[in-house]
Amino acid sequence: MAYDQNNIFAKILRGEIPCKKVHETAHSLAFLDINPQAPTHILVIPKGPYVSYDDFAAKASAEEIVDFVQATGQVARDAGVAESGYRLLFNHGPDSHQEVPHLHVHILAGRPLGPMLV
Ligand code: IMP
Repeated sequence: MAYDQNNIFAKILRGEIPCKKVHETAHSLAFLDINPQAPTHILVIPKGPYVSYDDFAAKASAEEIVDFVQATGQVARDAGVAESGYRLLFNHGPDSHQEVPHLHVHILAGRPLGPMLV
């Protein structure tokens, strides 16, 4: 799947639409989800043009991947949920109901989340 430069997260990265930024690094950006599913619901995205988890895993540099993983951990610590716990969720592709075709991880926390629903 080719990267769509007009997806909403590409527009956020270009500053064309606003976001509630919570963290930024050389290769990653974290911001609040616009429709939170938990008291803490933050999205972390790479700045590079990666459609999905598979695209990122296959094509991103080690530097980008380390940056993304470390940024995600830092965001969770900064949000104060590292001790109480959080869920990381990637939706990849149509069966997962991925809506935005730019890789993102959901950080969900702030209440007991219950078992994973599929
Ligand atoms: P997906 O289903 O894994 O692709 O999740 C996409 C997420 O992006 C959803 O949780 C949406 O609420 C969120 N979202 C969509 N548009 C925006 C936005 O403009 N700002 C922040 N979050 C957004």
